[in-house]
Amino acid sequence: MPEPTTPPHLPPFPPDALGITSTIPLEVPLAAGRRVVDLNNLFVRSTDPGWFIRRAEAEGFPRTCCSWIRGLYGLLRTAGIEGAIFVTGGDCSNTHAMMETLGPVLRTVFTFSFPVPPQREALHLELERFATAFDTTLEAAEAMGRRLAPLRTALAELDRLTWEENRVTGPENQQWLVSASDFGGDPEAFGRDLDRFLTTARTRPPRPPSPVRLGVLGVPPIITDLHEFLESLGAAVVYNEIPRQFAMLDDQPAATLTDRYLAYTYPYGVGPRVADIRREARRRRLDGFIHYTQAFCHRQIHDIVFRREIGLPMLTIEGEAPGPCDPRTRLRLESFLEILHERQG
Ligand code: SF4
Repeated sequence: MPEPTTPPHLPPFPPDALGITSTIPLEVPLAAGRRVVDLNNLFVRSTDPGWFIRRAEAEGFPRTCCSWIRGLYGLLRTAGIEGAIFVTGGDCSNTHAMMETLGPVLRTVFTFSFPVPPQREALHLELERFATAFDTTLEAAEAMGRRLAPLRTALAELDRLTWEENRVTGPENQQWLVSASDFGGDPEAFGRDLDRFLTTARTRPPRPPSPVRLGVLGVPPIITDLHEFLESLGAAVVYNEIPRQFAMLDDQPAATLTDRYLAYTYPYGVGPRVADIRREARRRRLDGFIHYTQAFCHRQIHDIVFRREIGLPMLTIEGEAPGPCDPRTRLRLESFLEILHERQG
């Protein structure tokens, strides 16, 4: 496939920033005075995310590698990014292989590895190693964690306004929580914007309660209008599982960074995720789940465990390329929602 010639417009990548492709203990680079930008958000929100995927394919990436990986690779090859932090344990082997292909391109590479299975001492040591790599200390990172805590508390409030007070929509919840993986690349600006949003949201009239309360499970959907479509069918999306994990909300406060990153379920396999999903399903009075899976992602297999362990109706859908919901998926969602509405009478 020929390489496309004109990349979509991107905001200039800050020269002092490091890109991330998955959630990392960002308190460490921030304590070292580095900015962190989540490349997933940059990729999927660009005017033509498919361009980056095509570039990766033109350079030899197989089509059977998930679109997130191909898109991130294309972005990293295009956007003038000089340094990145990769998760080498607890994320996915595709990320690892992508990192290896980028050796000659990136000037600076940091890695972080979540110990799998989760183990307190091993995680503490890894956090210390990570801090040393940035020429900072775990104490400085803990202090940064305390500075960021009000943001996590505010995000917990936003999440509560979604499921308890019906004042924040499912799409808004998803947008804010995924943006918290890097606090929009600028925690201070993020905090100001979040305060403004919460001031408005708190005083809005609550939305009429929906008879169907949904949770969306799985990696953030590459389908750009999934939440809007679900809510247009009369459902309320009141739980975004993985975005909520990325945001590490302070409704379950963590005393230390080791506590915080041990409580984070995403890297540690399906068991901790099931426990979290069950707890939140009860708390949020959910009627069913959409399990979003990404084509060619190993995490699709977790669907078997979710069906066995989570006793609520669930529809599994698959997305491949960035863009709106395809007609077949829309039809399946409509049928599932009809069944749930009928069950609720
Ligand atoms: S969607 Fe799956 S395969 Fe793709 S980057 Fe995420 S974890 Fe890896």
